Amino acid sequence: MDICVKDGKIVESVSNDAKVIDASGCVVMPGGIDSHSHVAGAKVNVGRIFRPEDSKKEIYAKKGLRTGTGFSIPSTYKTGYQYSEMGYTFVVEAAMPPLIARHTHEEFMETPQIDKAAMPLFGNNWMVLEYLKEGDIKACAAFVAWLLKTVKGFAIKIVNPGGTEAWGWGKNVHSLDDPVPYFDITPREIVTGLAKVNEMLGLPHSIHVHPNNLGHPGNWETTLETMKCVEGIKAKPRVGERETSYYNTHTQFHSYGGTSWKDFESKAVEIAEYVNKSKHVVIDVGQVTLDETTTMTADGPMEYDLHMTNGLKWANCDVELETGSGVVPFIYSPKGPVYAVQWAIGLELFLYTNTDKVLLTTDHPNAGPFTRYPRVIAWLMSKKYRDEWLYNKVHKWAQQRSHVADSDKEYDLYEIAKVTRANQAKVLGLSETKGHLGVGAEADISIYAIDPEEKDGKKIEKAFRYAKYVLKRGEVVVKDGNIVKQVFGDTIYVDVQVGEDLMNEVLKDVEEKFRRYYSINLENYPVSEEYANSWRVIKIDATDIN
Ligand SMILES: [Zn+2]
Repeated sequence: MDICVKDGKIVESVSNDAKVIDASGCVVMPGGIDSHSHVAGAKVNVGRIFRPEDSKKEIYAKKGLRTGTGFSIPSTYKTGYQYSEMGYTFVVEAAMPPLIARHTHEEFMETPQIDKAAMPLFGNNWMVLEYLKEGDIKACAAFVAWLLKTVKGFAIKIVNPGGTEAWGWGKNVHSLDDPVPYFDITPREIVTGLAKVNEMLGLPHSIHVHPNNLGHPGNWETTLETMKCVEGIKAKPRVGERETSYYNTHTQFHSYGGTSWKDFESKAVEIAEYVNKSKHVVIDVGQVTLDETTTMTADGPMEYDLHMTNGLKWANCDVELETGSGVVPFIYSPKGPVYAVQWAIGLELFLYTNTDKVLLTTDHPNAGPFTRYPRVIAWLMSKKYRDEWLYNKVHKWAQQRSHVADSDKEYDLYEIAKVTRANQAKVLGLSETKGHLGVGAEADISIYAIDPEEKDGKKIEKAFRYAKYVLKRGEVVVKDGNIVKQVFGDTIYVDVQVGEDLMNEVLKDVEEKFRRYYSINLENYPVSEEYANSWRVIKIDATDIN
């Protein structure tokens, strides 16, 4: 069929003299959406600075474009160009420390081709912990609304709830009911409290959760318990069509059985079974791509554990009252037994979860760089290609300790479109204008030269790595895999208005915190208007909360 584009949008019809792009024999999809990636901000930059060896691995130099370097932690322009070459048009930065949000937005301004949004970290914030400890959901909601607007954030991100705060005391939390030092609140109370806050405010996206115990054998039970603890909290978005109240990120890192690395095994099928029957849950995968990469997370204690395991260099940071983070290089060798199982677990999550409820990510760069998405797509579309890796390249533990070999499933292109754009648009609350090709959608369009029956993994990879055409708001920005036009997308954030009296009460608490504890003045904290090429504001009236 014909798709008509005018003024950056998909429309019913256009005049006869409209420019025509012939896409016959190709596959046309809406622009790709990455709902969880680490592309901008302080910890990404720490990774770039302390890994010159990564910078030397890949150099991007093309006529008329800005140069860039880096394989797992590419510089900003390279990041934008390479997402664009793959047909992606919107990327969400998954962890923004509020205090240093400006760094994230500064890098967004230097990341071309894509729309951007960032999720501020809330799961270890002192104000949040105190309000939830007192059971004051309304005040917590007002604080969340204030912070989202102040740092121009998009959604509530929770990382190792309570654990990163405990790390400030050299500790961690190890279960959903393990109290956080000093605050005496549990991860369960943080997760359910913020889920209630999220639905009270009616945010476009649900809470976005990286549960406790990431990367530890046996953690699948914590993951299930965390998903279960919000079962009773219904999605009530005030914008968008989201039906889920819980988003579990990089679920591969949270689906581990066994008691140590010796008896380590997959519990992905058990996790998938729960997700399939639970209306409130959606997951992204965090697929291991078997590369040398750079791990980075606001889960400070986890990065320390990782550094103790692999002995590679480690960076650690504590962000005052808000969060912390760590960075450690990592080599996922296909010949390593544990890495092989991790690889299999990610694929199992794709193969055993209902394709309406699973999203493609590599938790870039944690499980592998985003430039490997085409390879992940090839593993999903071709059993033959998957088996080439499973039986010839990857350690035999992948066969023995997972169910990846048992699945004959092959994704079709429709399912690929779901797990790379449509599902994302829906769970992020942006499905009115993103993730589809109907009238009214933004004209962010990707055209791939691929035969729908293609089973040659290398050919699938190539087709999705370099799109034939990419349109951003109706303009051709990629042709035959090359960037032909540099554009800058919008930065999207949420502005929720709650009752004035309630907000004034909360602002008094905020002022007190800044006066007593923060190292900077409140006046210097907000991200001001000039910190984007163009903003897109999602306004929500929640003045009924007072
Ligand atoms: Zn992440």
